Amino acid sequence: MERVLIRDLKAHVGKEVTIAGWVDVRRDQGKMVFFDFRDRSGMVQGVVLPKSEAVDAAKETRHEYVVSVTGKVNVRPQKNVQAGKLNGDIELEVLRIEILSRAQELPFEKDTDINIDTRFDYRPFTLRSQRDHDIFKVQATVVDAYRQSLIAQDFTEFQAPSLVGGDAEGGAAVFKVDYFNDRTAYLATSPQLYKQIMVGAFERAFTVARIFRAEKSATTRHLSEATCVDFEMGFISDEREVMATLERTIRDVVETVAKKHADVFERMGVPVPALGDKFPVLTLREAHEKLGVTPEDDMTPEHERNICEWALKEHGSDFVFITRFPTNARAFYTMAEDGTLSRGFDLLFRGLEINSGAQRIHNYDEMVARIKERGMDPDKFQFYLQAFKYGIPPHGGCSTGIERFTMKMLNLGNAKEASAFPRDMNRIDLLLSQEGA
Ligand code: ATP
Ligand code: MG
Repeated sequence: MERVLIRDLKAHVGKEVTIAGWVDVRRDQGKMVFFDFRDRSGMVQGVVLPKSEAVDAAKETRHEYVVSVTGKVNVRPQKNVQAGKLNGDIELEVLRIEILSRAQELPFEKDTDINIDTRFDYRPFTLRSQRDHDIFKVQATVVDAYRQSLIAQDFTEFQAPSLVGGDAEGGAAVFKVDYFNDRTAYLATSPQLYKQIMVGAFERAFTVARIFRAEKSATTRHLSEATCVDFEMGFISDEREVMATLERTIRDVVETVAKKHADVFERMGVPVPALGDKFPVLTLREAHEKLGVTPEDDMTPEHERNICEWALKEHGSDFVFITRFPTNARAFYTMAEDGTLSRGFDLLFRGLEINSGAQRIHNYDEMVARIKERGMDPDKFQFYLQAFKYGIPPHGGCSTGIERFTMKMLNLGNAKEASAFPRDMNRIDLLLSQEGA
């Protein structure tokens, strides 16, 4: 019999159907066995009556067994109806169970609230929990909505390389890789340079890229491997056009996620992000003044949290832009507004930087001069510099970290929770200190 998805069962009341999925729960009550069966579309209660030929198979199954179940879709007696729940008013009278795959004893119950490290130790199992299901369903929508919004704004998607020949940004936080011919390659810390090269060819380009950062930091917002959505656009007059494009995109993403996953926000008890009429914009100096602290070259995590509280209170927005960071605190390709301040910006969301962007230098000579100013060798950038040699429009762009965006969207305590397979200083799947890791 053809498989019916659990969410579609209601259309089959009174009929015999076959579903396939996991045993989420098995409860024995006297001679009856009750189940919650789970597939990708939802859950349904199954009941095995004492006379059913499925009784023996039912008694053999345990949690997470994979089964194919044939049964009759019945309307539940009124007193057993669970209003507002998928399939709360129907149940499957189980006639036959075929065991497709067995599960060994589980380390703990699937939806138990356990500490984050144990959750990662048992990732292949804990990803099945409702909470992780919610997180990664939302994340999939974030990436898809981001992509759709940029495509609608005439951006071309490209695939950026993860292996790069040089440590372009000159930072220490880069992973080295043994490459052919006794050469060292590096894992990209950002798709930035390639994105700019693509502007020379497509005007508007974006990529969903893996970035690798070898920073030895153990914070709740840093992963060794992260995902970002990076876009870059040509023919801008200044960085505010990039900010406007980013704001439109973020609004699209939030609206799509809020609409599609209203149930997740409710289950997690998290408000949908507030968008206000317009994301407020403060210069770094204004932000420090508002907070009554001494001006510095960057925002501390505490400043980021406090300024977001201000934005929500005064502007009804969970997002706030900070601009005019000192040029020397930003990446080498960032355009300066006047000598010391830059045309860069950060977007903060619920107390955390989720995006950095800027207008970039587009003049070849200026770019070469800037590279030298930073004590780097223009020869090492000759591939990238071709984009500038052969004519590139004034341009700018930015990068959103997907884990941080998801983390704040759902008020998670740690960006690692928003990574299905987090890598950090201590872990690649298993703890590095663990046997077999
Ligand atoms: P921070 O100062 O918070 O360490 P950054 O300024 O170094 O971040 P950018 O180089 O601006 O980060 O990267 C763009 C975006 O990519 C960040 O705003 C963030 O959302 C994300 N991102 C960068 N590094 C990481 C990381 N190690 N883990 C998770 N996300 C990251
Ligand atoms: Mg940044």
